[in-house]
Amino acid sequence: MGRIKGRISKYRKTLQNDEVWEEARRKVKIRDDHQCRICGSKIGLEVHHITYYVDGSSIRGNELNHLKWLITVCNNDHKKIHKDLNHPLNPKNKFKQNGETYKGIS
Ligand SMILES: [Zn+2]
Repeated sequence: MGRIKGRISKYRKTLQNDEVWEEARRKVKIRDDHQCRICGSKIGLEVHHITYYVDGSSIRGNELNHLKWLITVCNNDHKKIHKDLNHPLNPKNKFKQNGETYKGIS
């Protein structure tokens, strides 16, 4: 019983997280004018997690309270961000910038 119950609540949690993520993505894209904050592209848009942890807690499933740690980028720039540990939007960069203050488009 415990196992089944555990699975059901895990499944519910996943659905809940998916809904939160869907809504967070929608809001971030609106904030960012539906364009890549790095190159201005309007195609292949994805929403990037600038960090996964705030004050030691995971923001997964709780992104609506951390919209500044999300940013709209195109799929090309998304790959570049993850490859470059010194990129200002890379989650592993100690000096990363948040999605509200990042000045990608000059
Ligand atoms: Zn781009």
